[in-house]
Amino acid sequence: MTLRPDRYVSTRGAAPIADFAQALLRGMAPDGGLYMPQAWPTLAADAARSARAYGDIARDVLAPFIGDALPPAALDAAIARLVAGFDHPAVTPLVEVEDGLFVLELFHGPTAAFKDLAMQLAASLSDAALAASGERLTLLTATSGDTGAAAVAAFAGAERIRLIVLHPLDRVSPVQRRQMTTCGADNVLNLAVRGDFDDCQRLVKALLATESLRQEGRLSSVNSINWARLAGQIPYYVSAASQLGGRPATWVVPTGNFGDAFAGIAAARMGLPALGFVAAVNANDALARAINDGVYERRAAVQTASVSMDVQAPSNFERLVFEASGRDAETTRAVFETFAREGRVALPDDLLAALRGQVSAVSVNEATTRGQIARAHADWGRIVCPHTAVALAAARMIDRSAGPVVALSTAHPSKFGGFVSDVLGVEPQTAPVIRRLSDKPERLTVIDATEAAALDAVRAFSA
Ligand SMILES: *Cc1c(COP(=O)(O)O)cnc(C)c1O
Repeated sequence: MTLRPDRYVSTRGAAPIADFAQALLRGMAPDGGLYMPQAWPTLAADAARSARAYGDIARDVLAPFIGDALPPAALDAAIARLVAGFDHPAVTPLVEVEDGLFVLELFHGPTAAFKDLAMQLAASLSDAALAASGERLTLLTATSGDTGAAAVAAFAGAERIRLIVLHPLDRVSPVQRRQMTTCGADNVLNLAVRGDFDDCQRLVKALLATESLRQEGRLSSVNSINWARLAGQIPYYVSAASQLGGRPATWVVPTGNFGDAFAGIAAARMGLPALGFVAAVNANDALARAINDGVYERRAAVQTASVSMDVQAPSNFERLVFEASGRDAETTRAVFETFAREGRVALPDDLLAALRGQVSAVSVNEATTRGQIARAHADWGRIVCPHTAVALAAARMIDRSAGPVVALSTAHPSKFGGFVSDVLGVEPQTAPVIRRLSDKPERLTVIDATEAAALDAVRAFSA
């Protein structure tokens, strides 16, 4: 049997093989694992060297993962729409801020955060997959702000898809809320939940498991466990490498659910020139403790300025464990079943050594994050968001004599203007996409944090 990049297996080893469209529309594999391609495709020899347009790179990277599951025109259309939605001709420009230290700007898209890059593609490709089968899909997502905004921008107006976003009432920034609630599209429902993010996640899980809803049609989620979202993040690593002329770099990734970082590791499997990967986390440091101390343990969530990284149990860590264990589904299942049951699991020595060969991890505290925002402004006249500041703190620790260091910059600072101006005493310039946010009336439904209230709201939306 030849292993193919357009055939998907589960990290838990007990799901039937899926094609790209099935992995895309299902999100999670039926055995509770995450989809992974059977084999990694190889980048063309010059892919990461010669300067090329983002769209051409994205097509070469993504086509092997899709194979014949979708018509080729679907990928072309998805990429054209993605590129058209970005405010910068390079899409993801790489900026050298000081000798050998680079910032990869991933925030020039429709909601000024890096999630746009994959979400835009996932939306177009989902529509194409549903067109082929004539089906409709309801997508549910819980958000602390960025994912919901990116999903609304991507899926608003999609013909065959309804999107239902749950955010905690009064706990997202005004910009994030308006990004979700002013789209004016009839296929989007915003639910503001009287509760916190965990309540939103609990309600999404409950709705996804509601049998009567499942019988009405396909039900799925758009969180970062979806393979299509992961794949959509690989092209910007290749684009950055081509902007570096193919010099191997150390890649420093501000990390929450580990989707962004795992996309880099996937790119390296495909031939991206890399000296190493560093996952920079905030005070929510379960991943750093797992890699550095060998014990993966859930603790209470801490609120930080880099809110989109306030994640206790990074879901894509499962993909890393699967890959580092030599694709051992037994081991992967054992680790994550124990973790789910006990909230804690000691990693076997050989697995731990393999994980450390893939990635190192650093936890950055709030004082250092503030300090990095101040220093980037003082040294380079550059205003950065708190997530980017976490990455810069880790990037500054790396010796650049071995090769360039690239810190991924995941959001425009004006999305988190309150915190940034509190540190600097000056407001960041508003991103053009935020300036363009219309004064259109906001549409949202406030609900109690109960399953009954959520189900009622969803039912009223279908009517
Ligand atoms: C989602 C997000 C992150 C974390 O990305 P993961 O893929 O979850 O690790 C970092 N920065 C910003 C601005 C985000 O929105």
